[in-house]
Amino acid sequence: MRKQRHLIDDVTLASEDNGPDPICPLCDRPIPADVEQSRHHLIPKAKGGRNTETVLLHHICHKTIHRVLKESELARNFHTVEALRAHPELGRFFDWVSKRPPGFLGKAR
Ligand SMILES: [Zn+2]
Ligand SMILES: [Zn+2]
Repeated sequence: MRKQRHLIDDVTLASEDNGPDPICPLCDRPIPADVEQSRHHLIPKAKGGRNTETVLLHHICHKTIHRVLKESELARNFHTVEALRAHPELGRFFDWVSKRPPGFLGKAR
């Protein structure tokens, strides 16, 4: 079984000034310091989620999750990174965006 290392390793390095950029767990690209980052609550707080259950994402990835899924769906079926990546429409988006440069903001349509 291969473990995904980025979730753990990069958190400890993030406090260093010149540490590597954090990795977005959804599209597997680095999140550069000059690009908008956003924190997603895997379980919405209204549904009993704790503050610690958050992931750092590209703003564009985060926006897309909330455009496709309602809070109730997130809470019920999509409260893990694996489930989000397995969603057909989101999976297509992450696949597509993973081929864009890390600083891509989705402004061009
Ligand atoms: Zn969110
Ligand atoms: Zn991303």
